[in-house]
Amino acid sequence: AELPADPDETNEIRQVKNALFSYVNPTKPTEPKLIHASEEVAELVGIAVDEIQSEAFLNAFSGKEILPETKPYAMCYAGHQFGNWAGQLGDGRAINLTEVEHNNEFFTLQLKGAGKTPYSRTADGLAVLRSSIREYLCAEAMHYLGVPTTRSLSLMLSGDQVLRDILYNGNPAYEKGAIVCRVAPSFIRFGSFEILTARNELKNLKQFVEYNIKHYFPEITGEPKEQYLQFFKKVADTTREMILHWQRVGFVHGVMNTDNMSIHGITIDYGPYGWLENYDPNWTPNTTDSQNRRYRFGNQPQVAQWNLFQLANALYPLINEAEPLEKILESFINDFKSDYKVMFLSKLGVFTSTEADDKLITALETVLQLSETDMTIFFRNLSKIKKEDSIEDGIEKIQDAFYIREEISGDILESWKKWFSVYLERLNNETLSDEDRAQKMNTINPKYVLRNYMAQLAIDAADQEDYSLINELYLLLQKPYDEQSELEKWFAKRPDWARSKVGCSM
Ligand code: AMP
Ligand code: MG
Ligand code: MG
Repeated sequence: AELPADPDETNEIRQVKNALFSYVNPTKPTEPKLIHASEEVAELVGIAVDEIQSEAFLNAFSGKEILPETKPYAMCYAGHQFGNWAGQLGDGRAINLTEVEHNNEFFTLQLKGAGKTPYSRTADGLAVLRSSIREYLCAEAMHYLGVPTTRSLSLMLSGDQVLRDILYNGNPAYEKGAIVCRVAPSFIRFGSFEILTARNELKNLKQFVEYNIKHYFPEITGEPKEQYLQFFKKVADTTREMILHWQRVGFVHGVMNTDNMSIHGITIDYGPYGWLENYDPNWTPNTTDSQNRRYRFGNQPQVAQWNLFQLANALYPLINEAEPLEKILESFINDFKSDYKVMFLSKLGVFTSTEADDKLITALETVLQLSETDMTIFFRNLSKIKKEDSIEDGIEKIQDAFYIREEISGDILESWKKWFSVYLERLNNETLSDEDRAQKMNTINPKYVLRNYMAQLAIDAADQEDYSLINELYLLLQKPYDEQSELEKWFAKRPDWARSKVGCSM
C-alpha cells in the first residue's frame, strides 16, 4: 500500500478522492460466537489449527480486537452495475484486516459485515446470518470443485440484530448478524482502476497498475506500455479460465458488476449466486435482474468480456492505443469458444475432436431443456454409459435427472433417441475404455454441489442454533467428485418446495 491514504481515520460516509483506501476499524460486535472455521484455510495463512478455538481468534475475526501492528482499511473503488456507471462504491461492508505472507504466498484477510466504512452509502455495513452462511460455504465448495475463488476462514455470529426486511404487517424482521472472514491474494477489482480513470487521477492510476504488477505479477517485465498490456492480458486469461469453470459446474454468479470482478480471476462476492438445477442457459438467481437477465448463466462469458472492456477503458490512458487492447478482448471470446468446446466435450467423456462437435453440443443443450434435466445428475450419470449400450439403455441411465414428472414421450423422447444414437456412435470412436472414461468424467463432473435448497436447509437449522448441517455440508463439499455413500442423499434433484426459490438477497 504505497498510495497516499486517507488521513482522517473515520468511517464517516463520503467521497474519497486521491486515495484507494481509508483506514477504518471494524465495529465491535456485542457477543461474537464462532460457528465454523476452515482448518485448511487457517493453515494456509499461517494460523495453527489449535488456535481456532482461542479467544484471540474469536476477537480477531469478529472484529472485536485489532491484530497487533495492523491498520485495517476499506478499499475505494467504482464500478459498472448492470451495465451502468455507478461512480464510487467501495467496501461498504468489508474491511481488510491485514495482509500476511506465509509459505511465500500473500493473503489479504478481510471481514465482511463488520460495520460501516466511508463507503457504506445508505446501508448499514452489516451482513445477516443467511447470506454469510451462503458465502462461507459456497466459496469453499467452489475451491474444492477446482474453481478459482476467495476462500473462507471463519463464520461468526456478531450477537447483534440486523434489519433487512419489513414484514407485510409493517413490523421489522430482525435477523442475526454475522461476520465472515474471507481470504484472497488481494481484493483488487476492475472497479479499483475504473475509479482512478473516471476521476482523471492518472498519476495514481500509473502507480497503482505498477504496484499490482510488482506485487502480484512479478513475471511481467519489459517496457512500461508492454507491461500494462501484459497485465491486461493476464487478467483476461485468468478471467476466461474462471468463467469456463463456472460453466463447467453450473455456477451462476448473479451480480457480475465490474466491482465484483477480481484482477486475479477468482470468484468474488457471493451474493445472490445460484447453481443450475434444470439446465437452462437463461436462468439467473438474481431476482432484481429477472427482466433483462443480464447475468443469466448463458451470458456469463459475454458479460465477462464486457467487463474486461471496461477495464481496458480504465487502462487506456496509460497505453493510448486501442488496437492491442481490442485484440486481447477479441481473443478472449474466441479462445473462450474453443476452450468451451473442449470443456463441454470432456464432460461428455469425449476427448477427441471432429467436425460434428458443435452439433453434438448444441443438440444436447436443446434436449436437456426439453426434459428439464438436472445438470449435475445428468453429467454424473452419463459416466455409467457403456459403448455397448443401446439407445434405450442410455436414456434409462440418465432419466433420473428429468424434472418433468411423466415418462418422456413424443418429440422429447425422439430428440433424446436421436442424440443418444449420435453420442453412442461417438463413444465407440473414443479410445478410452468405458471404465477409464467414467473415471475421467467423474473428475470433471461433480457429484455434489451446493444446491440452493441445501444452503437453505443449513440456514434454517442455523437459525435455530443447530450448526450440524453447516458442518455436514462443509465436509460433503470438500470432496465433490467422490462417491460418499453415507451422504448420497445430497445427490438428488431439488425438491418441489425449492423450485421457485432463487438465491437470496444480500
Ligand atoms: P455488491 O452488489 O454486494 O457487490 O455490493 C455493491 C456495493 O454495495 C458495494 O460497494 C458494497 O460494499 C455495498 N454494500 C452492499 N451491502 C452493503 C451493506 N449492508 N452495507 C454497506 N454497503 C453495502
Ligand atoms: Mg461486491
Ligand atoms: Mg454482495
